[in-house]
Amino acid sequence: MQKNKQSNKMSGSIDVDLVIIGSGPAAFTAAIYAARANQNPVLFEGMISPEITPGGQLTTTTDIENFPGFPDGIDGFELVDNMKKQAIKFGTKVISQTVISVDLSASSNSTSPIYKLVTGDQQQYNVKSIIVATGATAKKLTFPGSETYWMQGISACAVCDGALPMFRNRPVAVIGGGDTAMEEATFLSKYASVVYIVHRSAKLRASKIMQDRVLKNPKIQIMYNHEVVEALSSGPKLEHIVVRSNHMDHPNHDTKLEVSGLFYAIGHKPASDFLAGQLKLDNEGYIITEPGTTRTSTLGVFAAGDVQDHKWRQAITAAGTGCMAALEAEHYLANLA
Ligand code: FAD
Ligand code: NDP
Repeated sequence: MQKNKQSNKMSGSIDVDLVIIGSGPAAFTAAIYAARANQNPVLFEGMISPEITPGGQLTTTTDIENFPGFPDGIDGFELVDNMKKQAIKFGTKVISQTVISVDLSASSNSTSPIYKLVTGDQQQYNVKSIIVATGATAKKLTFPGSETYWMQGISACAVCDGALPMFRNRPVAVIGGGDTAMEEATFLSKYASVVYIVHRSAKLRASKIMQDRVLKNPKIQIMYNHEVVEALSSGPKLEHIVVRSNHMDHPNHDTKLEVSGLFYAIGHKPASDFLAGQLKLDNEGYIITEPGTTRTSTLGVFAAGDVQDHKWRQAITAAGTGCMAALEAEHYLANLA
């Protein structure tokens, strides 16, 4: 195999030294470093679908205020789009396909394994090294009515859907108590008449600054110790939810709330289903890496960003581990026989 990618005429497969899977800050940072090191990376950014958002989680938010270098903040979409432009400028080839499967079995009997990878258009690639930076996708809940009113009032992205006319000057609810829930509630309060935050616990998990914004907002009401148990309507679009108290003083007390929108903000699940049985994952599906490195259980396969990080999950930490993965992959490729 040569350094540059080439088509394998016999099999129809394409040979590539370094593939990066993903399109958030981890993937694009890895691509910038790898491209500047003349590794000719090929990056699969994913093809848009209900599960895939090219550009990653930052494209579902508005202002990013804590990414260094932008004292006035920067729009999430713009930030990741700039990263993509920078990666392309240095020679990254970006392909708008989702990787649907990988075969890493070559690692068991070789010190210079060649891995197989297949994309949604059924193209096969033979690859020497892989950086997995597939991030995470929003979690959803299941209760009576949750499927019926999905995308008919129920959504997992307030920033994407919250400004729709159906939510304007209407009551809406957000489920969750983390930074995403605070951010989504604050965003929705610009359009909705009232925003209920339905939180299963007695204490918010969100950072202090995000909590303070919510607590000062007169349009937002927090329902602590409550869970949504049903979504109802007499028509095709959501009209009511039933929330149930889990507080020890009023256990199982139900309240029916009129809402036209219900937004899940209950965290994210690592996007690692396509790696099951190929790489070591923990119980929640996060890729296990060797502490202090981005090395996975398989030689030459590295993981960066939220797909391997259940703790920090920030744009800057994703970018940092993307840098580490590119440097480790470069070192690995340089030492191959
Ligand atoms: P992601 O951003 O999750 O991107 C991964 C992308 O890879 C996916 O979107 C998809 O397009 C692609 N992909 C997935 N599977 C495949 C596949 N099989 N094949 C090809 N491509 C695939 N962090 C901050 O630091 N500051 C903030 O203000 C902030 N605000 C946030 C607001 C919201 C609403 C959310 C949800 C998150 C926020 N975060 C913030 C967290 C931050 O967005 C994440 O930590 C960061 O985006 C993780 O980056 P990543 O590169 O690991 O992956
Ligand atoms: P988190 O994991 O931090 O919070 C998830 C919330 O959802 C928790 O309050 C949790 O409740 C609740 N929850 C989880 N499962 C359920 C369930 N089945 N039913 C009801 N509620 C549930 O996720 P976030 O998406 O909020 O944040 C992820 C990361 O992204 C964090 O690191 C955060 O800092 C970062 N982020 C940063 C932002 C910023 O800095 N501006 C903005 C948005 C995100 P409980 O607390 O009871 O466990």
